[in-house]
Amino acid sequence: MKAACQTWMKARKPSWLPVLTVVAVLLGPLGQSAAGSVLPIREDRGAGGFGLALRKLPTLGSVLYITAHPDDENNALLVRLGRGEGYRTGLLSLTRGDGGQNEIGPELFEALGLLRSEELAAIHRFDGAEQYYSRAFEFGFSFSVEETLEKWGHEETLGDIVRVIRMFRPTVILTLYPTGGGGGQHHQASARLAAEAFAAAGDPARFPDQVEEGLRPWRPLRLFQSTGIGMGGRSDGGDLRIDLGVYDPLLGETYAEMGARARSRHRSQGMNVLPQPGPYSTAFVLADSTVESLDLREGFFDGIDVSLRALAALDPTLESSVALLEGYVDWARDAFDRSDFTASLRAVTTGLDFVRRMRAATSHREASFLLGTKERDFENAVEKGLFLYADALAGGIRDGMVVPGERFRVTVRFHSPAEVPVEIDSVRLEGSGWGITEEEQSSRTAVFSVTVPEDPEFSGPYWFREDPRVDRFSVEPGYAGVEPFRSPPLRAVVRYRVFGVEARIERPVQFRWYQAESGQETRMELKVVPKLSVRISPAVALVSVDDPLPRTFEVSVRNHNPGPIASEITLQVPEGWAVEPPNAAVALRYEDEVQTRRFRVAPPRGVMEGRVRVRAVATADGTRFESGVREIAYPHIEPRILPEPAEAWLEALRVRIPDDMRVGYVMGVGDEVGLATEQLGASVTYLDREALFFRDLSDFDAIVVGVRAYLVREDLIANNHRLLEYVERGGHLVVQYHKYEFLRERFAPYPLSIARPHDRVTMEDSPVTLLVPQHPVFNRPNSITDRDWEGWVQERGLYFLGEWDDRYVPLLELRDLWPYNDQPKRGGLVVATYGEGTYAYTGLAFFRQLPAGVPGAYRLWANLISLGRERRAAGAE
Ligand SMILES: [Zn+2]
Repeated sequence: MKAACQTWMKARKPSWLPVLTVVAVLLGPLGQSAAGSVLPIREDRGAGGFGLALRKLPTLGSVLYITAHPDDENNALLVRLGRGEGYRTGLLSLTRGDGGQNEIGPELFEALGLLRSEELAAIHRFDGAEQYYSRAFEFGFSFSVEETLEKWGHEETLGDIVRVIRMFRPTVILTLYPTGGGGGQHHQASARLAAEAFAAAGDPARFPDQVEEGLRPWRPLRLFQSTGIGMGGRSDGGDLRIDLGVYDPLLGETYAEMGARARSRHRSQGMNVLPQPGPYSTAFVLADSTVESLDLREGFFDGIDVSLRALAALDPTLESSVALLEGYVDWARDAFDRSDFTASLRAVTTGLDFVRRMRAATSHREASFLLGTKERDFENAVEKGLFLYADALAGGIRDGMVVPGERFRVTVRFHSPAEVPVEIDSVRLEGSGWGITEEEQSSRTAVFSVTVPEDPEFSGPYWFREDPRVDRFSVEPGYAGVEPFRSPPLRAVVRYRVFGVEARIERPVQFRWYQAESGQETRMELKVVPKLSVRISPAVALVSVDDPLPRTFEVSVRNHNPGPIASEITLQVPEGWAVEPPNAAVALRYEDEVQTRRFRVAPPRGVMEGRVRVRAVATADGTRFESGVREIAYPHIEPRILPEPAEAWLEALRVRIPDDMRVGYVMGVGDEVGLATEQLGASVTYLDREALFFRDLSDFDAIVVGVRAYLVREDLIANNHRLLEYVERGGHLVVQYHKYEFLRERFAPYPLSIARPHDRVTMEDSPVTLLVPQHPVFNRPNSITDRDWEGWVQERGLYFLGEWDDRYVPLLELRDLWPYNDQPKRGGLVVATYGEGTYAYTGLAFFRQLPAGVPGAYRLWANLISLGRERRAAGAE
């Protein structure tokens, strides 16, 4: 493109005209990668971006892909269908993956679901799919379709799928496979529900409330099932083989390569897929169809007319205009020239105008719906062809979080470096209840003064779990539960005109900053939070029933208000429990100042076993603040916040550990087992690189290796010999659950292995057999009884050992009662003597149980880490 001066049309009122500027100023430094950015990726910009947008124009075809979890989708396939072939693509993941493990941080349950939702959003910047969910909560791995459907709610989840089908109106549906014992049965459950929805969505008698809302029934034409999960599956066979190793000149790589790059954003699941050029294909099975099926050769749409001509079949009065519209599309695509878009743009804008007229002329609702999707595609092509740059940035604020009543600035920037004249008709900010005043306009910016409502909608997920016993989300009014996120609080809408045709562009108001780690600009949607964020720790404090000492809670208050704010903190505890001090004054002077106060909570005389809730409340100017802002931020996603109630538990139980226990903890991917160990009364030292290389380890009663530390700690791998020496000389090492990275070298003293797929026990109340009941782990200092296996959450454990050397002693036998997983498992807890010391591996999910305050898990954990001390004590006797 020429980098010379261009003339712009004369301004009309309101005069808000883009003028020439150096492209690099706005488009230059970004776009190397989408990491840490919510800006369009490189492939969506410039000539390539325009070319990809043009591919969308000639087809009415659409694909809805229905899966169970984030990462079940084949991203290369989505790239091919959406980017390569121009179809409209949607992904309906029935869950947000809440129940999985986390390879990059401490988020579990709802926080993990939010992180994974944001990872999918990052992925779709590459593969281009629209995202939907259902209200099903991912309660953890399941070996049973029946359990899954019962927990999710068969009718409710089916209704959500039907809703999405009626909204999206796909030509074709893709699902996972519905049978077989392999893998988690959520997958099979999702495929069965999708098959039911395929038939139900077209029947107005099914879910009639949706029809009353205005959703029209829709019967998709074909249903396909994959032969695998994610980018796996059979490469051949089935009814249809889809080639994904095809090189796309506009993308500059194959669909599989781009799919792999997209997929790597599933970082919480460790999906580090290195792109491979060359052949790659996947196979699908035709499962249901409402059209005559022939030999499928080319793809999912064989024999189905998804060209624009199909509009005339719906509404014969459109016949002649369809021919003209096809002419505009051909013209736009034939005129596509990488160095001069003018001719092509003229065709696209004419086509946009024409699509709108056709839509106004037809009274056929399906035709009108399809023309609406085409209108969006044409508008998008206009935007891409103009290299339009538009954004809305919050200024004069510190961290992207604003509070009720706060005033700040929003600058809307609009710029087109193309050689085609662009006129701005209007620039508006929209936000329900927000005070918005336009301050100034220049040729390519508009500045608004904005005031947050006193009673705003706060940021955070619109979905929440009302009752932890129900595995289905509740949603706030105005949401159906299928939307990916809450709508942005504040949006900029720019109406402009090109070749006399009107178009609009909408952007959420964002906050941006320079992220030092990645060396890149990063952005997030503006967040609205309460003035004070209140957090309490620890989440679970243990009180020994035998020795009921007071426990200390720390309450921290963070000021999100731009000015000073004085508050008083109180801790609310049940009757009989005493708090000291009764309250504490906190005067915060500036934004993001945090102050922490300690409170001691004393148990009542004769406290009984059980749990009580503790709530922290800050009061300022008569307003109560009872929750805190948890930030979920990683370089590969747009940061999100999760409001969390400022609540903790006091867990009164019978638990003991030896006096003055000293524990060294090698943190892995971020578990809270170290904190829980502190709660038991142990002194915990977190072993950093320096300590692993040089510290004398001999004074530790136990060293614990955190969840998946061998995956992320090179310093641990480097010094594994030091840990084994520590054991040899009489130490006690406990290694928590690891995946196959633990087998890379022989990190353990004797041979062991984990089966593929690994042994796991998903029933949190599964039967337990003690193989060596007299072993100290079950007897000292706490005597483990049947009660200790009650009240566990989600699962017993995972990644149990599959085989082990005879020198390891298996201590437990656990079994699921599910038919697909009913073989007894003995690798969940093994202990070996090595030299003078002891070595233990456990796949029991302490990382879930301890933060959840499960008493039996604490008692067993206390015994497990005390084993070295107990053995020494026994030896001295
Ligand atoms: Zn899955």
